Amino acid sequence: MTRIAVLLDFDGTVTTINVLDSLYEKFAGPSFRTHMERWQRSEISTMEEIEQVFKTVKATRQEMEAFLRTVQLDPGFISLLFFCRERDYPFAIVSDGLRWYIDYVLGIYSICISAVYASEIKFVDGGFRFDYPWFDPAYPMRSTAKPVIVKDYQRRGYKVVFVGDGLSDVDAAGVADIVYAKDILLQETIARGIVVKEFHDLHDVYKDL
Ligand SMILES: [Mg+2]
Repeated sequence: MTRIAVLLDFDGTVTTINVLDSLYEKFAGPSFRTHMERWQRSEISTMEEIEQVFKTVKATRQEMEAFLRTVQLDPGFISLLFFCRERDYPFAIVSDGLRWYIDYVLGIYSICISAVYASEIKFVDGGFRFDYPWFDPAYPMRSTAKPVIVKDYQRRGYKVVFVGDGLSDVDAAGVADIVYAKDILLQETIARGIVVKEFHDLHDVYKDL
């Protein structure tokens, strides 16, 4: 019997808002919109976007974390997580964003997820430093190579369920076994002929599984 692993995007999938974009809107200089638009047109990589935008951020970690405390989880997230834990399905978050805010937001809800694949931010004197532990040169525009992680679970014998909403999920959707998509990911996968299931919130996903 093939075992299932469930991999979720974070921004806009686990949370109701895109946390990274909201941090930009709240704390970055006005040039963030140009960087975001260039990223959406695939003119700059996620690393370039993050580094350019964070250069304009003057807020402290504490100020940003005060904002993170207002972030809401998708209404079906806890049900989906418990469903996977009951069945012993490996459960992972794969994000083109930053592990710092993922752990922080989940921590507010007392949720600990051991498998989080995301980039690292270090708060250093007068600025920020970034590390990209899941970068892969096969996907040079992304800080976290989501399809590489999906394929790694498949190599270990799992049938991978992938859930996402954005541009950085398209490549993973192309290799996962079952894909749940909404918003931009839904449009982009339909345009590319990738078979997906549409979802509105994570209740839809766990009921369908
Ligand atoms: Mg997303």
